[in-house]
Amino acid sequence: MRTADGRIAIIGGGFSGTALAIQLLARGGGPVVLIERSGVFGPGLAYGTRCGRHLLNVRSGRMSLFPDAPDHFTLWLAAQRLDPDPEGFARRADYGRYIAACLAEAQTRAPGRLSLHRGEVTEVRTEADGAVVAFADGRSMPAEHVVLANGNPPPARLRLSGLEELGERSVPDPWAPGVLEAVGRDEDVFLVGTGLTAVDVLLALDAGGWRGRAVAVSRRGLLPRTHGPKGEHGQGGIPDGPLSVRLRQVRRRARDASWTAVMDGLRPHGQAMWREASLNERRRFLRHLRPWWDVHRHRMAPEIGAAVDGLAAEGRLLVAAGRLLGAEAEADGLAVTWRPRGGGSAVRTRAGRLINCTGPEGDPSRAGQPVLEALLAQGAARTDPLRLGLDVDDEARVLDREGRRQARLWAMGTLTRGRLWEVVAVPEIREQAVDLAARLAPPALGSGNGPGRFTGHLHEVGETYLQHMAVALPFGARMLGAGAACMVHAVAPWLFVQTASRAVTRLHAEMAARRRTSD
Ligand SMILES: Cc1cc2nc3c(=O)[nH]c(=O)nc-3n(C[C@H](O)[C@H](O)[C@H](O)COP(=O)(O)OP(=O)(O)OC[C@H]3O[C@@H](n4cnc5c(N)ncnc54)[C@H](O)[C@@H]3O)c2cc1C
Repeated sequence: MRTADGRIAIIGGGFSGTALAIQLLARGGGPVVLIERSGVFGPGLAYGTRCGRHLLNVRSGRMSLFPDAPDHFTLWLAAQRLDPDPEGFARRADYGRYIAACLAEAQTRAPGRLSLHRGEVTEVRTEADGAVVAFADGRSMPAEHVVLANGNPPPARLRLSGLEELGERSVPDPWAPGVLEAVGRDEDVFLVGTGLTAVDVLLALDAGGWRGRAVAVSRRGLLPRTHGPKGEHGQGGIPDGPLSVRLRQVRRRARDASWTAVMDGLRPHGQAMWREASLNERRRFLRHLRPWWDVHRHRMAPEIGAAVDGLAAEGRLLVAAGRLLGAEAEADGLAVTWRPRGGGSAVRTRAGRLINCTGPEGDPSRAGQPVLEALLAQGAARTDPLRLGLDVDDEARVLDREGRRQARLWAMGTLTRGRLWEVVAVPEIREQAVDLAARLAPPALGSGNGPGRFTGHLHEVGETYLQHMAVALPFGARMLGAGAACMVHAVAPWLFVQTASRAVTRLHAEMAARRRTSD
C-alpha cells in the first residue's frame, strides 16, 4: 500500500464531515482529506437548498458550529448584515454559506493540512496498517483512518403497485436537482409523507409560483409541530425509570408546563435515555411512538408553520392519515388509490405528480449508497440491530460483521443513529465532531501554542481551579460509588445489576449537558 502519511479521509463534505475536518485542523491533526461527490463543501443536503423560504428548524442561537463558542453563528449573521436574533430561524442557504466560510477560514489557518477532494467513494478497504478509499472513477487513495460522514441518503423506494408505470410523474427523490422545478404551475401533487420533507417540498413549490393543490398522506397523517414562543427554555431534565415510564412522565409534565419546553429540556439527555433503554424498549418506541416523537421533537419555525396553515386554509393542502394501495398512469396525469386510516372505502386521488416525501432512508443496506453496500457485503460493517444506521461502538468505531471494532473505520452523524438516536441535528453532531477529533488527533501533552498543561483544561471549560474542583470532586465520588457497586456486583451478580451502567451513562449525560449549557 502507498503511504498514508497519517492521512484522515472523511467521506462526505456536508455538515458532519466539515465540522470534523475543522475540529481536526484546530487540534493540529491531519493531513485531512475531505471528500465530497458534489464538489460543494460544507452545506450538504440540508443547507444546500437555494430556496429562500427554507428556514432552519433550530434557533440560530443553537446553530454555532463550535460548541464552545455558542454565538459564533449569530456573530457571523451580524457580520453579514443578516438578522442575528439568537431566538430566530435563519435561512438554511445562509447557514450553508456559514459552514463553507468556517471551512475556508480553518483551511487558511492550517495551510497545507486540508485537501478538498471532489469524487464519489464507492469502496473502502481496511487493512492492518491502514485503509484504501476507492472512487467511482477508478482512482484510489490510502488513508490511516477513514470516517464515514455520508449523511442523508435519498428516501427509501416506495413499495407501491403501478409505480413503475408512472415514469417522470413519479418523483422518487424530491432533493434531486431540478425535479420540483419541473412541476407545472397549476399541477396538483400527491405527497407521500407528511413530515419535514413534505413541508420543504410545499414551500419550494410555493416559492416557485406554484398554484396547484396538494394531498399529503402518511400512516398517521401527523404534521410537524411548530416551535414554542421566543425566550422559552428547556424544562424538566431527565426523568427516572425505563424508557416507557420516562415517556409517561414526560407526557404528565407536558400537561402542567409548555410541552415545547419539556421536549427541549429532554433533548440534552436524549442520547443517555436511548443508551439506557433495552433493545426491546427501543424497538417498542420505534414501533409505537416514533411518529409522535418525530413531530414534537423536530419542529418547524413558526413562519413555516404559518405558511403551511395558509395553504390548508386556502384549500390547497389536505393532510390525511391512510395507507397507499396503488397508483396508475392516466392520460393527463396519475391516480393514487389509498384507504383512510380507521377504515372506510378506498379513495382515488388524481394528481399530476407523485412525490416521495418519506425522508432519508436510514437502513444502510437499502440506502443505495455503493460504499455502504460494499462495506456490508465485505463484512467490514454491519447494520445496527434496529437498522437505523451502522453498528458502531461508543467511540463511533464501526463494528464488523462479527461485532469486532474496526481500528481504522469510524462513522458519524445519522449513520450512528442506532447507537445514539439523538444525533441528526447540528447541536448533537457538532459535539460528536469534537469527541471524534479528540480520538483521531489526541493532543501531544504539553505541546502546542495553546494554554499550558496546568491551565489548558481549565481554560477550555472556562472555570477557575476551585470552581473546577467543586464540580470534579462530586463526579469522582459518584464514580467511586458506582465502582464499589460494580465490585459488589462482580462478587454477587444479583446485587446492583444496573447501578454502575446507569451511573456511567448518567454521568456522561450530565457532562455532555454541562458542556452544552456552559456554551
Ligand atoms: C432537509 C433537511 C433540513 C434539515 N434542517 C436542519 C436544521 O435546520 N437544523 C439542524 O440542526 N438540523 C437539520 N437537519 C438535520 C441534518 O441532517 C444535520 O443538521 C446535518 O446537516 C447532517 O449533515 P451530514 O453531513 O451528516 O449529512 P448531509 O447533509 O446529507 O451531507 C452528506 C454529504 O456526503 C456526501 N456524500 C455521501 N456519500 C458520499 C460518497 N460516497 N462519496 C462522496 N460524498 C458523499 C453527500 O453528497 C453530502 O453532501 C436537516 C436535515 C434535512 C434532511
